[in-house]
Amino acid sequence: LVSRQMHPEDTRVQVGDVSVGGERIVVIAGPCAVENRERSLAIAGQVRKYGAVLFRGGAFKPRTSPYAFQGLGEEGLKILAEVRQTFGMPVVTEITTPAQADLVMKYVDVIQIGARNMQNFELLKCVGRLGKPVLLKRGLAATIEEWLMSAEYIVSEGNDNVILCERGIRTFEPYTRNTLDLSAIPVIKNLTHLPVIIDPSHATGIREKVSPMARAAIAAGADGLMIEVHDDPDHALSDGAQSLYPEQFSRLMRDLYVISPVV
Ligand code: PEP
Ligand code: MN
Repeated sequence: LVSRQMHPEDTRVQVGDVSVGGERIVVIAGPCAVENRERSLAIAGQVRKYGAVLFRGGAFKPRTSPYAFQGLGEEGLKILAEVRQTFGMPVVTEITTPAQADLVMKYVDVIQIGARNMQNFELLKCVGRLGKPVLLKRGLAATIEEWLMSAEYIVSEGNDNVILCERGIRTFEPYTRNTLDLSAIPVIKNLTHLPVIIDPSHATGIREKVSPMARAAIAAGADGLMIEVHDDPDHALSDGAQSLYPEQFSRLMRDLYVISPVV
């Protein structure tokens, strides 16, 4: 179902007024985690001003350490709903178990499947049945074929609103957190009709590397970007080192316009 052969035209995933996979580049931005209400509203106001059209923020965080901040849970989802209400921006958040399905259905517009859950097949089937747009991240060590099979799990349940997201894969190279597989963009464009976006934040893990990779991704034909932005990254509860300062995000957005029209 996800193959380009079966379905030659590009799929556009509609999220409110935003069309992912259309002519325009879609930029999703926000903090790694929803930390509190004031901070989330402040970051949302900034990223929206600079041209982001969807807001991201995790409420259920899959952290490597069980002692790290795990997210605010439903309180975080309520804050996301308030961001949507205040700024008219649809919101994206991660689901980590089918037990959260009712909650995410109630509060958010796009459901993210994180890299660590790309092959959590019960979760994929669950979001396939929910029917809301899904942002499916590539697994830490998943081949493109495996990633597309995971998309197939979702689409085969009747939900073809799937956005693929490359976020770096694990290689032997320690200078970046992961290695961004930019070549996945043309490969994916050839194999499937689903839109593909790039997350240079998790791919590089280092703020200074985010903008160059974001520009490269758009030049290579990605349909959009997902970027972590924080107004005080040094004190962020997660992923501060890779979060852009709002001014850096503003500058990146201006640079992107030169390459391609941004929503
Ligand atoms: C995230 O988007 O905050 C996240 C946890 O990403 P990934 O699943 O790609 O590590
Ligand atoms: Mn993160």
